[in-house]
Amino acid sequence: MTATSSSPAAGSQTIVSQAIVSMRSASFGYADRAVISNVTMDIHAGEVVAILGPNGSGKSTLVKGLLGLNNHLGGQVALFGTPIDRFHDHARLGYVPQRHTLSASVRATVAEIVAIGRLPHQSWLGRSNHEDRRIIKESLAVVGLDDRTTVDVSTLSGGQQRRVLIARALAAQPDVLIMDEPTAGIDLASQEILSEVLARLAARGTTMLIVTHELQALRRVLTRIIQINQGRVTFDGPPANNELSQASQGPDLDDHDGHHHDEDDEIPRTWPTAGPLDRFPGFHDA
Ligand code: ADP
Ligand code: MG
Repeated sequence: MTATSSSPAAGSQTIVSQAIVSMRSASFGYADRAVISNVTMDIHAGEVVAILGPNGSGKSTLVKGLLGLNNHLGGQVALFGTPIDRFHDHARLGYVPQRHTLSASVRATVAEIVAIGRLPHQSWLGRSNHEDRRIIKESLAVVGLDDRTTVDVSTLSGGQQRRVLIARALAAQPDVLIMDEPTAGIDLASQEILSEVLARLAARGTTMLIVTHELQALRRVLTRIIQINQGRVTFDGPPANNELSQASQGPDLDDHDGHHHDEDDEIPRTWPTAGPLDRFPGFHDA
């Protein structure tokens, strides 16, 4: 932590840190109804975080809350050190929404869709320059579609369209990429390609927040798992199977039976040594 903690823009009682996302007892919901309650966490640059939880537990509500797409009902939330109510630099947050493909009525080429991601960086004239075109091409290369730039998006499969949307988010050069179930509802081949894409992004140091059920596919790249249940965080820590976390895990693991002595609202910070990721529904250790 450095100078940011005394930034004048941060206000008097608000939280301040270098974290990309900071939440203190945060609640989000719709109208007055809180769906996500009392969430406290920081997410820093370079983290690759999976958000897990049963259907309806509030995963999408949490990430939408960060994007300002629902109501912030309580607690403190800051993005890049700025309280969310005063945060306007939304190009820094890349977002690939849940179950989103492109409408069949969209008549546009792959490159045209990805070019939309460049708009926040362009003048009101909206002219794309050489640098924009380079970034569009590179974003498409990351998702393995750089040979499709002139193809009509409506001719692509659902999985390919999802990759175009990821490329569009990347083209904005966000500081964090937030993806809501990017691999859900697409064919297996595309799921595998997407996992490779996410691994490639992680290798490039991209900070990611991924709502997912596909832990198996992501196990090599995750640095952290956050589990949501009924709107609350019930686990926040490194996956035990992850090589990164194993090095730092030794001394904390005194709880070999995998049970937590304090059952009340206690969030485990590390995994038990045995039976790590398979505690989550849908995950089977290979
Ligand atoms: P998840 O992504 O974990 O499946 P959601 O965040 O989509 O869960 O939903 C959590 C709860 O919020 C559910 O009870 C759902 O009905 C409610 N909810 C989601 N979207 C809206 C909305 N736009 N308006 C009102 N309630 C909503
Ligand atoms: Mg959801």
